[in-house]
Amino acid sequence: MSSVDCGNGPAAGSKGYNYPHLSLPMIMKILVPIKRVVDFNVKVRVKADGSGVDTANVKMSMNPFDEIAIEEAVRLKEKGTATEVVAVTCGVAACQETLRTALALGADRAILVETDADLQPLAVAKLLQAIAQQEKPDLVILGKQAIDDDANQTGQMLAALLDWPQATFASKVDIGSGVATVKREVDGGLETIEMKLPAIVTTDLRLNEPRYATLPNIMKAKKKPLATTAPAALGVDVAPRLTTLEVVEPPKRKGGGKVADVKELVAKLRTEAKVIP
Ligand code: AMP
Repeated sequence: MSSVDCGNGPAAGSKGYNYPHLSLPMIMKILVPIKRVVDFNVKVRVKADGSGVDTANVKMSMNPFDEIAIEEAVRLKEKGTATEVVAVTCGVAACQETLRTALALGADRAILVETDADLQPLAVAKLLQAIAQQEKPDLVILGKQAIDDDANQTGQMLAALLDWPQATFASKVDIGSGVATVKREVDGGLETIEMKLPAIVTTDLRLNEPRYATLPNIMKAKKKPLATTAPAALGVDVAPRLTTLEVVEPPKRKGGGKVADVKELVAKLRTEAKVIP
């Protein structure tokens, strides 16, 4: 939170993230990291050499959990809780398209950390740390996982690097004065936690239903600011720390069979599948 005088007393110390005098729920800036991934409708193909997934000539889209993150940030802005939503992505130049989608969905401006390097979650988290240190957001909302690597690591690593509290798998976010109250999806139910801002939230499916970008908003998005930087300019070494040994397709599904009656089914479960004694 920067020096904001909301009529409740003296302004908070500049970006000291001190909110003691604020009684109004106020968030000034939300950073939303988004990832360009193979569209969820595409059947992915593994490269012939087993080194990864083939992304050549494949439809790419915004990671679905990141659409939820953008939606949540935009809703907070529409409620008057946030004043600015900044979308950021790290990746190749074509990621600009994904940022334009974020702008069409309501983000105010975008940042591309451009690199052709193969980025692993730790590298992304370090880049986002550098961006967060420049932008000084009050809240960072990420997806809980990218549907391509299924890593579920970036938000947690970013929280550790920044030493900020985190609420992962959020299904509800409420902002109070200097705090966020978050309902988290946990095994067998919901956990409610409260954390001080600035903080990290990662989105789960039930947080909201993202809107579609309308044509007028797609047109407006073309004029919104999109800045480009690079890992070297942020002082971040993005060299991979993990080596992928092999990527293989999941085993082909074997054809099913029909049984005549329950007796035959039970017999097969006992003698063939061996799942009942
Ligand atoms: P992961 O840890 O890879 O499953 O990704 C979790 C979340 O981190 C995603 O939903 C995004 O919000 C963010 N993220 C991952 N990779 C990138 C990237 N290259 N650029 C920006 N944000 C990213």
